[in-house]
Amino acid sequence: MAVKLEKPDQYQEFLDKFDVFLFDCDGVLWNGNEPLPGVKKTMELLRSSGKHVFFVSNNSTKSREDYKKKINAHEIEAKLEEIYPSAYSSAIYVKKVLKLPEDKKVFVLGEGGIESELDRVGVKHTGGTDASLRRAVNSDDLNNVRPDPSVGAVLCGMDRHVTYLKYCMAYQYLQDPNCAFLLTNQDSTFPTNGTFFPGSGSISYPLIFSTGRTPKVLGKPNDEMMEAIVAGVNFDRKKACFVGDRLNTDIQFAKNSGLGGSLLVLTGVSQENEFLEKDAPVVPDYYINSLGDLAKVA
Ligand code: PLP
Ligand code: CA
Repeated sequence: MAVKLEKPDQYQEFLDKFDVFLFDCDGVLWNGNEPLPGVKKTMELLRSSGKHVFFVSNNSTKSREDYKKKINAHEIEAKLEEIYPSAYSSAIYVKKVLKLPEDKKVFVLGEGGIESELDRVGVKHTGGTDASLRRAVNSDDLNNVRPDPSVGAVLCGMDRHVTYLKYCMAYQYLQDPNCAFLLTNQDSTFPTNGTFFPGSGSISYPLIFSTGRTPKVLGKPNDEMMEAIVAGVNFDRKKACFVGDRLNTDIQFAKNSGLGGSLLVLTGVSQENEFLEKDAPVVPDYYINSLGDLAKVA
């Protein structure tokens, strides 16, 4: 049963339970580009109380550096090594787990954040923001597509310049069973200005359907995201709490990774009725109207 935090003395009791707080970004710290009220104060309170803070986002379009700029622009302190976007967890996976040979490349069906993180770990890539792939094609064009034999993995994420040509290339690479099929995150949608648009999970569907293959998913709620985090920093998971706005990514991530607690904020995607109903598949340990409320400790 989820406990609603609504009184100042409950806030302090909750904060005292944990040493580490991992924050989802969109829907928790801000909505789109709009800051959420009181968040800056809550983050200052956590820092001044000596808590460790991390930022964990499924948004694959941004690199760690992009995120640092965005978090700092909201006047929230954040160091590079505290920031874990799905582009970063994906690059770490390719480098450390997949161990793609040096002569192999990743075909990116995604944006610049993924390319930056692959560059940082020294993995070669193709596709991505290559402007020559952003065009409509006819049958002749498709007959002239020459797959690059050095591609050893397809990494799919959010791509706002997705084209049929990119899908055709990725499809061809994935015909080789030795070519890994990776997905930064499986969010079906992402919220923007009070509405929703298709997310990375939806972008990947034409490839899943056409190839019959299942991608390895590297963002929340999967273990690979937690492995990327603990590769950089070690902490007692039982003393850590994940704070998020989406049940099937954030709260499930806390459960999958064996964290001591999860807090759902009601400023984003998931709402009270989804976890208060009988047999709800994912239930947070705690929930609160807004992260900013925590600053009102007794
Ligand atoms: N994917 C995309 C493309 C997004 O723009 C966002 C949010 O802005 C997300 C996923 C979800 O990000 P988060 O995990 O920070 O809520
Ligand atoms: Ca979110």
